[in-house]
Amino acid sequence: MIVELAGVGAAIAAGASARWNWWRSVVRAGMPTLMYHKIGEAPPGSKLRKLWVTAEDFRKQLAYLKKNGFASITFAEWRDAEKGLKPLPEKPVLITFDDGYMNNYDAAYPLLREAGMKGCVFLVYETVDGHNAWHDPKTEPWLKMLTWTQIKEMQDSGVFEFGSHTMRHRNLLKLSLEEVRWEASESKRRLEDKLGREQVGFAYPYGSGAYDPEVRAAVRAAGYRFDFGIKQGISPSLWDPESGPLKRLLVRGDDGMYDFHLNMTRGRARL
Ligand SMILES: [Zn+2]
Repeated sequence: MIVELAGVGAAIAAGASARWNWWRSVVRAGMPTLMYHKIGEAPPGSKLRKLWVTAEDFRKQLAYLKKNGFASITFAEWRDAEKGLKPLPEKPVLITFDDGYMNNYDAAYPLLREAGMKGCVFLVYETVDGHNAWHDPKTEPWLKMLTWTQIKEMQDSGVFEFGSHTMRHRNLLKLSLEEVRWEASESKRRLEDKLGREQVGFAYPYGSGAYDPEVRAAVRAAGYRFDFGIKQGISPSLWDPESGPLKRLLVRGDDGMYDFHLNMTRGRARL
């Protein structure tokens, strides 16, 4: 191939090289999926401090991704790549946020926009415009969640895409399968009504039920293409749902940049 290319014009070589990169990215790239919750300073009394990443750390992490050639994509773009409509970037990354806190709008949105990157937020349908009612306020003070007005602005900006994190953030392992089906399909239907876009991404609250075959089948029956658990690691971009839910990389508030680097390169912080 190299010998053959040596004699032809640079334009053809560039075309071949683009095809090669496309092929290589489709076949070999992983789909590192960062998992965030809250961006900002943990409030006094929070027992979940590790789930708070400061704006300053988040900015540094985005700078790392840019410097290392990662291009953030949305679930819809991944789906388009699977359908052969548009190739994936050579080094894709998904930047996901669970729950849908208002600090995603206040703190993460401006930083992503500034960096020219994209994020995906998993919403708990019934808490939009409200607060994190599923938390015991003794563990985590009540926080404001995103409003529909903010969600629409975030979607229209092209910086954010949304997915489902169920209706009420209940532990799916403690529900009947009928209730699980409702949590998954009702949130999909309502989000699609509100946002006018197909919902292809789902994240299991607490990661619960992701690894239970019956619960997972009930969730997938709602029609999501991508279901995300909380097991640490990097799933391949050529992902087979039969291999289990997608892995993610938890970014903890006390992680340093070296942890972040280990996450992105080995699928695991603090080896
Ligand atoms: Zn959650």
